[in-house]
Amino acid sequence: MSPTESVLSARNLVKSFGSNTVLRGIDLDVRTGQVVALIGPSGSGKTTVLRSLNGLEIPDGGTVAFAGTPALAIDFATPISRKDLASLRDRSAMVFQHYNLFPHMTVLKNIIEGPVQVQKRPRAEAVADAERLLERVGLADKRDAYPFELSGGQQQRVGIVRALALKPQLLLFDEPTSALDPELVGEVLGVIKELAEEGWTMVIVTHELAFARSVADEVIFMDGGVVVERGPAAEVLRAPRQERTRQFVQRLNHDV
Ligand code: ADP
Ligand code: MG
Repeated sequence: MSPTESVLSARNLVKSFGSNTVLRGIDLDVRTGQVVALIGPSGSGKTTVLRSLNGLEIPDGGTVAFAGTPALAIDFATPISRKDLASLRDRSAMVFQHYNLFPHMTVLKNIIEGPVQVQKRPRAEAVADAERLLERVGLADKRDAYPFELSGGQQQRVGIVRALALKPQLLLFDEPTSALDPELVGEVLGVIKELAEEGWTMVIVTHELAFARSVADEVIFMDGGVVVERGPAAEVLRAPRQERTRQFVQRLNHDV
């Protein structure tokens, strides 16, 4: 894959919940190794974009294409086949705001569940991968712990390991630190930053603008289900062209 090739290319995604139109034609391209930060006010559709890319929501229209062998191209104008949906879900992995670990499973079991049950990989291989990844994020000793025995920051690091264990083409982070106590935010952002430096391709929904500025290649500002502004992180966050972006960035900077 050439370095400039898009891992993901989404065009004109539209989605309504009943009479509430939430996405009004979203385009998104993410190139290999690129980090895209998605920002915008609550209710602007950010989570719905991520969930649509991961096949957790099915858009009413638009297209999604993933590079790779084989490539995947889906047009939501027609009903999605089970095979395409399974393939779509396999392309990316989500890290959720509230970690979403299975409470009745150990850390190890949480991590190997997808690789073993869904991807049908050999258990021994999945366990070895999980142990290596836990070591990486400093949680090797928590292998047999249950989620309730961990801090929020530790749970989210497990959430990140669980996503990595799926070996996705694209990592999706949905406000990964917004449920954490302030003193635990740094350890999670640190892990995400390392992954970005390692070359993982990712889309991150975040309100941490300083973090976005330091890791993101591109920032996309959404409001009301549309992309209002997009561009290099430094430009969008320091010198926004649109009034709506300016107001949002100013307000967030004042809050922190
Ligand atoms: P954001 O992540 O930017 O806060 P969301 O994508 O979560 O925005 O939500 C956008 C809008 O879609 C909101 O008005 C929300 O209430 C609505 N919405 C999201 N998911 C659902 C759902 N499953 N059913 C009905 N409405 C939803
Ligand atoms: Mg959200």
